Amino acid sequence: MDLVAYVATAPRRGETVTGHAFRTVPGGKGANQAVAAARSGGAVSMIGAVGEDDFGVRLRASLTEAGVDTGGLRTVEGESGTAHIVVDGEGANSIVVVPGANGTVDGLAHGDERRIAAADALLLQLEIPLTGVLAAAHAAREHGVRVVLTPAPAQPLPPELLAVTDLLVPNEHEAAVLTGKSDPYDAASALLASVPEAVITLGAKGSLYAVRDAEPVHVPAPRVKAEDTTAAGDTFVGALAVARGEGRPVQDALAWASAAAALSVQRAGASASMPHRAETDAFAA
Ligand code: ATP
Repeated sequence: MDLVAYVATAPRRGETVTGHAFRTVPGGKGANQAVAAARSGGAVSMIGAVGEDDFGVRLRASLTEAGVDTGGLRTVEGESGTAHIVVDGEGANSIVVVPGANGTVDGLAHGDERRIAAADALLLQLEIPLTGVLAAAHAAREHGVRVVLTPAPAQPLPPELLAVTDLLVPNEHEAAVLTGKSDPYDAASALLASVPEAVITLGAKGSLYAVRDAEPVHVPAPRVKAEDTTAAGDTFVGALAVARGEGRPVQDALAWASAAAALSVQRAGASASMPHRAETDAFAA
């Protein structure tokens, strides 16, 4: 759950400031990607955990409402994962993430392997322990399911995880953390030493698609007036996974995912801003 406080100036250490608004918004990269994929027309199962608190109830309900199967979402003792976000008058934010229930997802539970095996793709992020990420990725590989990894929050990745990743989708910052290269073209070619395919998202500049033995391709983003870019990356990944799962050619799939993300940045909120398939089709046409 994202707990967002809006202030003129963020508090310094030891200081108390008065904010002018507060919102609780269902979030989490996994849940956001699940909602994006479901709204894009995918059949989606969420594996993860929420706490026994009220947030847990709301988080589960928001997934169900989006059409996501929550049979693999456990409810565990304690608090749900939270992100405590302070947004200042210039729109800049500082964030404290407390994993809570997400920290308990350190491996697969009963039924998870079956859920993974039944899928076209497994979407992974790094907001659960790495042991959980690895267990899921190995299960997917074993069943021939495509592994799509968003390496966020940014951190160096173990080679064991990269070895079972089919498609890596970092943003510019994450790509630089992974490769030590700030130029996206350099970062993309460095990533291909570890994974067969990568997309580096570049915000309003679009994205860079790279696959082994071919020149990288820049995919422009539609020009729109951005209102709130929260979860643009998650919208992009969810839509891309659905389009690829349907067997669309990669360039078409990337353009369609870019359309979905461009729609989402024009509206406020994380999952609330994500477009439904028909809207993306209309915008992409
Ligand atoms: P977030 O952390 O907010 O989810 P991100 O940093 O993971 O985002 P970005 O690279 O900012 O991801 O954006 C992902 C994709 O969304 C971009 O590749 C682009 O297609 C689209 N996008 C982002 N910002 C804009 C924008 N201002 N205008 C149009 N498209 C955008």
